[in-house]
Amino acid sequence: MPRWHPAILLALASLQLACTLLLLASEQGGRARRFLAALFTSEEDGPFDYSHPVDVYTNLSAGLESMGGKSMRDPVFLSPCPVVSPLLVGPISVQLSGPVNLSIISRRNPWVLLGGRHSPPRCRARHSCAVVIPHRNRELHLALLLYHLHPILQRQQLHYAIYIIQQAGNQTFNRAKLMNVGFKEAMRDEEWDCIFFHDVDLIPENDRNLYVCADGPKHMAAAMDKFGYKVLLAGMKISRPSIRLGRYKMIKHKHDAGNAANPNRFTMLAQTRRIWRLEGMNTLNYRRLSREQLPLYTNITVDIGPSEKAPARRLHG
Ligand code: UDP
Ligand code: MN
Repeated sequence: MPRWHPAILLALASLQLACTLLLLASEQGGRARRFLAALFTSEEDGPFDYSHPVDVYTNLSAGLESMGGKSMRDPVFLSPCPVVSPLLVGPISVQLSGPVNLSIISRRNPWVLLGGRHSPPRCRARHSCAVVIPHRNRELHLALLLYHLHPILQRQQLHYAIYIIQQAGNQTFNRAKLMNVGFKEAMRDEEWDCIFFHDVDLIPENDRNLYVCADGPKHMAAAMDKFGYKVLLAGMKISRPSIRLGRYKMIKHKHDAGNAANPNRFTMLAQTRRIWRLEGMNTLNYRRLSREQLPLYTNITVDIGPSEKAPARRLHG
């Protein structure tokens, strides 16, 4: 190996850096920039231009209205949808001042069936999913989410349904338990490929972030992090899209009245490692008060009983 003087190496490296910067800055640099970007990102991973988002109802009337809205053919006779939906647009504009009247939103989504269900009218969906939203007393957020989520899921050419799980009464809100209820109730309807647990106040900003399962659980809101202790403990890997793709807009809100943090939460979290296998889905106990097929979602109201207490500590020795 010839020995290079460090100064020569440094000069060569600086020259290369200067050339690269010049190329990127030049007029023909667009192609070079795209080439470099392509080296580091995959097609569905961007780059995305969030400064020019498009209307969230783009590509829907052309693709779907011509089918006569609700009169759908039996999917069995249709050929499978393309692997990548041709209807996708990427970044969409989130209108937090958009329509909040459910009948207006319903009119904008004539191809959504009772219960908030949908199947692509012209091809057989490759994936099915249920979106489960734990909810109480956030009607404004719910309307804004439905306004954006329905067109996005339709452009993804999914077979899907939206379930709102309402906690009855005014006990402390228990999101995790409502998610378990939602899983059970959605699976009673259909063997969904995938169930997505969705906060009511997180609006997706990119329709290429697909509501399709990878192997195991998937955390869609990559740019909006929280943790899933139980999932990690079960030895599963949570997949998540890149922060370029998994962008969500969070609706700002005040703390809900009457939703004091569970005073047992630290004890409960500390015990998760010990008890996660023993409690949860297998000990789920609730009373279903109603199940209604509304135009934009299936509403399930449940009495989940009194607030959870941490199980008594077992005495050692
Ligand atoms: N939620 C609700 N009503 C409540 C509290 C929570 O519907 O009174 C649901 C709703 O889906 C919300 C999610 O639980 O998006 C998470 O609660 P919150 O928004 O209060 O949590 P944070 O904003 O702190 O993430
Ligand atoms: Mn919130």
